Amino acid sequence: MRGRASGAPAAAGESRSSGPGNAARDPRLDPVPGPVKTEAVVLRSMRYGEADRILHLYTPARGRISAIAKGVRRARSRFGGRLEPYFRIQAELHEGRGELLTVTGAQTVDAHPRLRTDARALDAAARACDAVGRLFETGEPHPGVFNLLCRQLALLDEQAGADEGAARRAGSLTFRLKLMLAAGLAPQLGACASCGEREHLVGFSGAAGGVVCAACEAGSFPLGEEAHGFMAGALGRPLNEAPAAGEQALTQAERAIAATLEHHAHLRLMPAFAAA
Ligand SMILES: [Zn+2]
Repeated sequence: MRGRASGAPAAAGESRSSGPGNAARDPRLDPVPGPVKTEAVVLRSMRYGEADRILHLYTPARGRISAIAKGVRRARSRFGGRLEPYFRIQAELHEGRGELLTVTGAQTVDAHPRLRTDARALDAAARACDAVGRLFETGEPHPGVFNLLCRQLALLDEQAGADEGAARRAGSLTFRLKLMLAAGLAPQLGACASCGEREHLVGFSGAAGGVVCAACEAGSFPLGEEAHGFMAGALGRPLNEAPAAGEQALTQAERAIAATLEHHAHLRLMPAFAAA
């Protein structure tokens, strides 16, 4: 199971997520009641009623779904502690006529146990899950995003306990840039986003959606070479090889990311990484 996280991005579980009878069914059409099996990451978990929880799950083939886990807050729940946020699970669900699925079973694929020993790693996991849930909030399938999230959670789990603030911030921004790429929102970095000039790129414009040259810099903010290089490197390298950059460059990159998301997706996400 675990190996899948480092496998090829787009291959994750199309039909694996449905029983044999409904493998070909388009989940965006009216649901036919029945069982659904899928891998999922628990993005969020909210108390509901006396003993239940509503979960936001991110799945390879159905995007983000909401499900109710009944009785999960009881001491002797059959789900044990397997439906906690940031768990990667193999879920069994029942799909009714409504939007909310019902969790009928869950097995742990990866609990990321070290995350819970490190408050900052846990916080970074929360921000990663929040960004996925908000950038990809529909049932549209993005198996690559599911894999990316699994890798990011595994990395945060691996690095838990290490005291490397700048490296972690670089990792969190790299993850966010890759999410933007998957959403079709990657900033233009190769040439001026306004006029196409390839030299003298001095600023970043959220409205233009990328770097801008000295002639087009009105309305932009400064983006230094280091920040520019960081963003290009982050988009071009694997998640676990996030480029290193200084605090100032990371701050500029984060501002560029935020401006792009705000202009082109009308989204204001939490900062990718909590201030020290
Ligand atoms: Zn220009």
